[in-house]
Amino acid sequence: MEKSIESVQSEGRSFAADPAFAARARVRSLAEYEALYARASQNPDEFWAERAGELAWERPWDAVCEGDFPPGPRWFVGGRLNATVSCLDRHLSTWRRNKAALIWEGEPGDARTLTYHELHREVCRAANALAALGVKTGDRVGIYLPMVPELAIAVLACARLGATHSVVFGGFSADALRDRMNDAGAVCVITADGGYRRGKVVPLKQAVDEALREKGGSPTVKKVLVVRRTGEAVAMSEGRDLWWHDLVARQSSSFAPVAVDSEHPLFILYTSGTTGKPKGVVHSTGGYLTHVAYSTQLVFDLRDEDTFFCTADIGWVTGHSYVIYGPLANGATTVMYEGAPDTPEPDRLWRIIDRLGVTVFYTAPTAIRAFMRWGDQWPARCSLASLRLLGTVGEPINPEAWMWYRRTIGKEHCPIVDTWWQTETGGILIAPLPGATPQKPGSCTRPLPGIHPEVVRRDGTPCVANEGGYLVVKRPWPSLLRTVWGDPARFEKSYFGEIKGVYFTGDGARCDGDGYFWVMGRVDDVINVAGHRLGTAEVESALVAHPWVAEAAVVGRPDELKGQALVAFVTLRGGRTPADGDAVMLAAHVVKEIGAIARPDEIRFSDALPKTRSGKIMRRLLKEIAACGHAEGDITTLEDLNVLAKLSMSSDEE
Ligand code: ATP
Ligand code: MG
Repeated sequence: MEKSIESVQSEGRSFAADPAFAARARVRSLAEYEALYARASQNPDEFWAERAGELAWERPWDAVCEGDFPPGPRWFVGGRLNATVSCLDRHLSTWRRNKAALIWEGEPGDARTLTYHELHREVCRAANALAALGVKTGDRVGIYLPMVPELAIAVLACARLGATHSVVFGGFSADALRDRMNDAGAVCVITADGGYRRGKVVPLKQAVDEALREKGGSPTVKKVLVVRRTGEAVAMSEGRDLWWHDLVARQSSSFAPVAVDSEHPLFILYTSGTTGKPKGVVHSTGGYLTHVAYSTQLVFDLRDEDTFFCTADIGWVTGHSYVIYGPLANGATTVMYEGAPDTPEPDRLWRIIDRLGVTVFYTAPTAIRAFMRWGDQWPARCSLASLRLLGTVGEPINPEAWMWYRRTIGKEHCPIVDTWWQTETGGILIAPLPGATPQKPGSCTRPLPGIHPEVVRRDGTPCVANEGGYLVVKRPWPSLLRTVWGDPARFEKSYFGEIKGVYFTGDGARCDGDGYFWVMGRVDDVINVAGHRLGTAEVESALVAHPWVAEAAVVGRPDELKGQALVAFVTLRGGRTPADGDAVMLAAHVVKEIGAIARPDEIRFSDALPKTRSGKIMRRLLKEIAACGHAEGDITTLEDLNVLAKLSMSSDEE
C-alpha cells in the first residue's frame, strides 16, 4: 500500500493525562504502561494467568494457552468456572453485598436499583425458571428484551445454568429474530410485552409471535418467557408462553452455579452487519471473562466508588462486555437506561449523570455527533461535575467530535478513552490508559498490555510509520471469538484466510511514529484515487470539521480515469438546506484540510445517512448507490429503510 495521506487537522495535537487523574490512576505514567506491556510480551502465559487468576474458578486450568491461530488456541485448558460466580457470588461475602450492582432507569422515569445480594437472588430465580422450562446446560436461549433489569438478569441466568445466550437487539424485526433463533437453534426465547422508545411502545411479543408463526417459524423454540413491562395486551399461547412474574417469582432464590469448561460457549452474538451478512460470533467463558474483567479495570480505571454508565444496548457486544460482565466482575456499579437519549428532551443522559453521580461515561461517536447537532444548551443545563472519565467506541471518532466531547462534557479535565475493538475481539484491544497515555484526538492510541496489533501490507510484511495498511493482531489473546456459529469455514476464511498466521480485523489503519494507531475505516471501504489510498475516516473528518456539516460518509465509485472517484454523502447541521455553491465550497474545504487528491468528485446532501441499528454508517450501501443508483446488499440490520429509499430516489432523478 502506498503512503496514506495524513489527516492534517489532528496531527500534532496531544493531551497529556490530567495530573490529578494520573495521581490516583491504576497505571500512572507512560513508563509504567510500557513496563507492563514489556512484561506481558516477554511472559504472556504468566501475564494472562495472573489476569485469569482474578476470577473465581471451580477448578484451576492445566495449561494457560494451547494451540495457535487458527482455529485455536484454547485458553485456560482444563479449567472450570461459572461466569456468575465471578460476577455475583464472590462479592456476597464482602462489603459489596449491599452495594448497588445495577442502577436502572426506564424511559418513562421509573427506576430500580439491585444490590449484589438482590441481583444474585433474581438471577438464581430466573435460572430455576429456565430449568423448569426444560432449558439445559449447553442449550441456546434467545433473549429479545428492551433495556430492562430482566435483560441483565436473563443473561446472567443463562450463564448460571451454562446455557449459551444469544441476545437479539430489541429494535430488530421479526424476520431478523427468526433468522438468528434458527441459526443458533434456540430452545426458548425470553421477551417482553413491549419496551419504551421515544414515548412509544415497541411491541416485542408481537414480533416474537410473528417470528414463530410465519415463514416456517423457529421449530426449535419450545417456550417463550414474557416479562411484563408496558402492560399492553399480548396474545399468550397456551403451553408455550409463560409470564416471567408468574414463573420466576415463585422460584427458589438459590441455584447452584453450573461450572463449565473454560472453552464452553458463554454466548453467541451476531455482528452489526456493516460489511455484509451478520456473523454469529461465539465467545468462550474463561477467556472472554478474563479479558473483559481486565480491560474494564485498566481502561476505565475502575474503582469501587465509581458509577459506570455505558450507554450501549445489551443487544450489542459493548453491552455484554461493559454493561454486564466487565463491571460486575469488578464489583462495580453499572447503570442501565432503557430509552432514547432525547426523551423527553435532549438532555436526558446529562440528567441521568447528575442524578446518579455517574463518574465514567462510555458512548459512541454517532451519539456524540447527535449531541453536537442538538446543541450545547442541553449539557449546559446540567452540572456533569461527577464525571472523571469519558469513553467512545464503535467507529473512528472525528477529531472535531472528540474535541467537543472533551470540552463540553469533560470540561477539559476528563481523559477520553477511544477504545478500538470488535464483536469478535470480545473486549477492548487498543485504547489509552487514562492516567498514562497522552491522547491524540482521532487515535485509539496504543494496545493494552498482552495485545499485539500491527499494520501490515497484503503480503503480511509490516508497514512503516504512517503507511496505510491492514490492521492485524499477531498473537493470540484470551477473548478472541472461537468460531462463527455453525460456519467454521467462514470463521477461518474471514479472519485467517487473507493474511497468514495472524488475526485479520478487516479494518484499515496506520501507525504513527509514536506507535499510535489510527483506524482509517474498513479495508473494503478504503478508496484508491489515482494510486493514492484514502481512508474514509480521514476525508469524513475533514468534512465534519466544517461548521455546517453534521455527518459525512465518503465512498468510492468506479472511475475509468482515476480508478475511483470520491463521492461524499453529507448531512448538514441544524436542518440547514443546501444552497447552490455549498458542494463546491465543501470540496474546497477538503482540499484545504487534506490536499487536492482528496477533493470529492461529487457531494450529495441528504437528511440522514443509512446506519445500522447500532448507529454505524453503512458505507457499503452508499457505495452501491453511488455506483448504480440503488442498494442490493443485505439490509436486514439497517435502521431506517426510508433513508435508503430517499437516497436511491434522489439518484434516480439524476
Ligand atoms: P460487521 O462485522 O457485521 O460488518 P461491525 O464490524 O460494524 O459489523 P462490530 O463488531 O460492532 O460490528 O464493530 C467493530 C468495528 O467497529 C471495528 O472493526 C471498527 O471498524 C469499528 N470500530 C470500533 N471501535 C472503533 C474505534 N474506537 N475507532 C475506530 N473504529 C472502531
Ligand atoms: Mg466487523
